[in-house]
Amino acid sequence: MAGAPDEREPGPATREQLHVSCQVFSEGPAQGKPQEGLLSSFPIHNQKCQLMLLKSLKTNPYVKLLLDAMKHSGCAVNKDRHFSCEDCDGNVSGGFAASTSQIVLCQNNIRNQAHMNRVVTHELIHAFDHCRAHVHWFTNVRHLACSEIRAANLSGDCSLVSEIFRLHFGLKRHHQTCVRDRAILSILAVRSISKEVAQKAVDEVFESCFNDHEPFGRIPHNNMYARYAHRDFQNRDRYYSNI
Ligand SMILES: [Zn+2]
Repeated sequence: MAGAPDEREPGPATREQLHVSCQVFSEGPAQGKPQEGLLSSFPIHNQKCQLMLLKSLKTNPYVKLLLDAMKHSGCAVNKDRHFSCEDCDGNVSGGFAASTSQIVLCQNNIRNQAHMNRVVTHELIHAFDHCRAHVHWFTNVRHLACSEIRAANLSGDCSLVSEIFRLHFGLKRHHQTCVRDRAILSILAVRSISKEVAQKAVDEVFESCFNDHEPFGRIPHNNMYARYAHRDFQNRDRYYSNI
């Protein structure tokens, strides 16, 4: 694959900082609402972001599992050091800066606690991948594609939609389509590559990355699944620590 177009340089410098930009488009009915502009830099947005983050870290089962898994892998997460609430351009909700292992939460775009939970989970999956493997975020688009597939699959990004479609269509197929589409969008947000190249990268690694459910052990379709997964992880952890 020498000289393949996926080896191109990453996109603009501002986005380069957030190696993995996520949640490219705002979800749900907020679309079309004007950006709050100057207002969004008021301290109250930062304070609200911090409070929602704290609640995610303390109560959300997806987040709690990932924090345990990071600790278990030797990458313990510290709230003040590894998270930063900031204003972001466009509709980006969050990002992961691999060079500093820091997660950026876009305080002007994260709308409520459920959204915060998904963004923190999504970015922690990137952080987990970064911790457990040598991920070449910049030089190998398939690595980025794999982590985006996993983040979309396991964070609940696609669950809300799936819940609706469950009533009408085959859940499994729709979930996969949603994961694929989201992974492509996330790649296009940080890379100056064509949609075709992004699609190709996602399709090449889809099967193996979609089926890699670590550290959840299953696709956590909702909080109940995530709680079970967390319990199983804790038991697994206990088992290994006794060996
Ligand atoms: Zn992402």
